[in-house]
Amino acid sequence: MLELPTLFVSHGAPTTALVDSPARRFLQGLSQAVPLPRAILVISAHWETEQPRLGAAEKPETIHDFYGFPAPLYQLRYPAPGAPALAAEIAALLTKAGFQAATDPAQGLDHGAWTPLLLGFPAADIPVLQLSVQPAKDPAHHYALGQALRPLRSQGVLILASGSLTHNLRELDFRGGQNAPLQPWAGAFADWVKAALEQRRDADMVAYRRLAPEAQRNHPTDEHFLPLFVALGAATPGVPAEALHRSMELGALSMDSYRFA
Ligand code: ZN
Repeated sequence: MLELPTLFVSHGAPTTALVDSPARRFLQGLSQAVPLPRAILVISAHWETEQPRLGAAEKPETIHDFYGFPAPLYQLRYPAPGAPALAAEIAALLTKAGFQAATDPAQGLDHGAWTPLLLGFPAADIPVLQLSVQPAKDPAHHYALGQALRPLRSQGVLILASGSLTHNLRELDFRGGQNAPLQPWAGAFADWVKAALEQRRDADMVAYRRLAPEAQRNHPTDEHFLPLFVALGAATPGVPAEALHRSMELGALSMDSYRFA
């Protein structure tokens, strides 16, 4: 059976859902980057837990997990059905692989999940569920999670990782906006990641904190980068990743997004 590719997207600020930008236009075409899935498993940077958790709501609510943004953002809803049976299957798959996985029937969709879904799959007719990240654990843990999820690709489940290729909110140039001058340390990091992914140097990626230029400055904490390792771990080893979109917002917020076969 056909194996779906996996995706990593940078979801950007919550306003990505509303305000035009090159990255938003890319996300609006996301469904064209993959065959039609039967379900979408989103790994979002905004659901952090100690151990892997799978959202198992029948109808996941749209969570507006941000403060001080324009009122219209709080009106947005993503009313797709959940996939509780699939959540239980995936929890079992992860448990078999040695993870302490469980389902959570109360969990809704955070903006890391619903921003790319709303833009890329606006009909909201494909069942969706979320898998949490574990910020206390390292990239190797998330890469192994991805490896355990790989069989889902031949079962019509799209693995959609949503984070940010760079994420240092204290260094963003909000006054400069989309035309802010590029910060070289952010560009160097994004270029290093692109080369490592295209050459599938997965071991280098997992050791990015030691090997990538300015890793600490681009990711003071890991949580927005961790989803990428799930998408990478689920990919077929040795097949070059493909950059689907590259842009930089606010001088240092990379919106780069990748597809893995
Ligand atoms: Zn975010």
